[in-house]
Amino acid sequence: MFQDVINPARFSETVGKVWMMSEAEVDEVLEQAHIAFNTWSRTAPEHRSHKLRDAARDLRSALPEIATLFVRENGKPLREAEIDIRRSIELAEIIASDLLEWSKPAVLDPSQPVLARRRPRGVTAVISPWNSPVLLSFKRVIPAIATGNSVVLKPASQCPLAVLECARIINKHLPSGVLNVVTGSGPIVGEKLTTDERVRTIAFTGSTATGRRIMELGSRTIKKLFMELGGNDPALVLQNAILDEDAVARMTHAILRGAGQVCIAIKRIYVHRSRYDELVDKLSQSFDRVVVGDGLAAETTMGPLNNKSQFDFVLGLIEQSRNAGLRVLTKGKKLDPKSWQQGYFVLPALILGAAEDHDIVRCEQFGPMVPILSFTDEEEAVARANNTPYGLRASVWTAGRDRAEALADRLEAGAVFWNNHGIFRDLHIEFPGIKQSGFSRDSRWAALDHYADTYGFGE
Ligand code: NDP
Repeated sequence: MFQDVINPARFSETVGKVWMMSEAEVDEVLEQAHIAFNTWSRTAPEHRSHKLRDAARDLRSALPEIATLFVRENGKPLREAEIDIRRSIELAEIIASDLLEWSKPAVLDPSQPVLARRRPRGVTAVISPWNSPVLLSFKRVIPAIATGNSVVLKPASQCPLAVLECARIINKHLPSGVLNVVTGSGPIVGEKLTTDERVRTIAFTGSTATGRRIMELGSRTIKKLFMELGGNDPALVLQNAILDEDAVARMTHAILRGAGQVCIAIKRIYVHRSRYDELVDKLSQSFDRVVVGDGLAAETTMGPLNNKSQFDFVLGLIEQSRNAGLRVLTKGKKLDPKSWQQGYFVLPALILGAAEDHDIVRCEQFGPMVPILSFTDEEEAVARANNTPYGLRASVWTAGRDRAEALADRLEAGAVFWNNHGIFRDLHIEFPGIKQSGFSRDSRWAALDHYADTYGFGE
């Protein structure tokens, strides 16, 4: 059975069709991946490095076409889609060079000598979400292939096309069966991958609920897991925060990038009471400059939401907030008011007056709105920021780095930013989420280690 992939900015446009595989079809792919592993795992790191570089070069030449396809199925503005793809390419290039040094055995005890050597593990399943489909697929696929594993990749059903296109290009450089893409529903295709004995490693990025299910199923065959899950990131704006134009622009970007459909977006703001009005005023002005429209239009700064269930969920949260008596300050401009109803468009909004137990504060909204709450005591603000099962990122906005560092010690997050939020300048410096946001290894060598077994050799 085929499923249509619809443009979220224009419902009349079917961008492509995706085959919904059966369990038996996935079984066949797994067998091919299992067979391919036997030869790929024995190739030299130099050979694999070379292949990765060639694939990266071809991806770079195809970047404009892939990015356009990405926008048509996902909705993001073109430049955001390009960044996702460019980062995947840079990652391939960096891993191609890291691999050679990484592959050398470490001498643990020169007197015997005892060596720590690494070998690939087998078939790796990569299961990825729709919000950043290319980067969150290939960030896992590339280190797995580089270290000599074969991969079966399952992209999200709403956004599989740009991923399929990237895989087609990469596959020109790989033997058959090394990189495989399976398409279809999570419960059928995804669960086959998580239960099959041939799969030894799973790298999953997606919601905490699905991650929990994968951990349960994966435990039956003791899989090695990598979990990048949901988040509800807090930003703390202290009494002495610098709220100049640059800072407000960085904050706006951290809230509205990807229309808020970003795991590490700011999802709650706690601001010192003395700066509340000023922050609301400055963010209102900044949100008001956002232009919402088709991601392929040059004027668009924020695209539509990706799919109907996310759209309904976000509208439901806004409606629920209004019904609860909260103030919803809707901002921004519609690029094309006439076709507004033809896409999953939502204007950005600030939500005022919420308390800790409102859904807009408690849950991961994954949409272009943010609740702003005030505090008077920093200790209380930290406790409220930590009052969540999640722990991806947090940020402290203050003139004093020392204070930010002191609070960072107590904020329960995988990384804490000072006057910024999201990612560090060097894209390969990454930290895993904590609590129910998962556990992962994404930084340089750590990412390669995840897909290998280390074994000892000596007399
Ligand atoms: P889902 O968890 O719904 O889906 C993610 C992937 O898992 C999809 O490919 C999906 O397939 C598949 N899947 C669904 N059910 C199962 C199952 N039972 N067994 C195996 N696989 C399954 O997440 P979303 O796609 O909705 O992505 C949004 C979520 O991802 C948010 O919570 C967000 O915070 C999180 N995320 C986390 C990131 C991080 O780095 N921590 C980064 C980006 C997103 P199908 O599409 O067919 O349903």
